Amino acid sequence: MNDCIFCRISEGAIPATLVHADPDIIAFRDIDPQAPTHVLVIPRRHVGSANDLEASDTELVGRLVVVARSIARTEGIAESGYRLVVNTGADGGQSVGHLHLHLLGGRGLAWPPG
Ligand code: 5GP
Ligand code: ZN
Repeated sequence: MNDCIFCRISEGAIPATLVHADPDIIAFRDIDPQAPTHVLVIPRRHVGSANDLEASDTELVGRLVVVARSIARTEGIAESGYRLVVNTGADGGQSVGHLHLHLLGGRGLAWPPG
């Protein structure tokens, strides 16, 4: 998976501003933030997209959301609100082929999305 940018961030080969790290999950600030808080939460294991999730990944997906919720608290946006987004495939706007959860907050977010 040497050509996967998020695998390389997980390995430490590409620098990123980490806000969470455990044996299975890391979170880091998006390089092109779309909101005052824009953090990406990813599994260390390479999963290409939501399409590649298996039933056995249920706990991992739950933990990704719980990590995002914890970061929302430490970022001070838990009460004001935030959005969790998993862009998937071409129409979903996915640009990096390693599953990631966007945590966006710190401003009002429009709906519907573009
Ligand atoms: P997607 O478009 O796949 O849903 O989201 C990919 C996100 O990864 C984008 O918001 C993009 O700004 C971010 N990103 C791409 N390359 C890097 C990088 O090298 N470092 C960091 N921190 N974020 C990146
Ligand atoms: Zn990867």
